[in-house]
Amino acid sequence: MNSQKKSLKTCCGGDIPDKQVTTIHKGKKLYFCDTACLNLFDKNPERFLSSTHFRLDFENLEDA
Ligand SMILES: [Zn+2]
Repeated sequence: MNSQKKSLKTCCGGDIPDKQVTTIHKGKKLYFCDTACLNLFDKNPERFLSSTHFRLDFENLEDA
């Protein structure tokens, strides 16, 4: 029944919540745990993406 989706994860490696928090960055759709994580990303995307804590894997993201 589930449509075939890639196993997307949030920035912290969790499952995508029902209420999706997303943004578009360099043509990729990023999924966040919540608005708190999104706010962190907005403040400093490069640092966010280079942090080992966060697991935004561009390879697994949907083209947007
Ligand atoms: Zn997060």
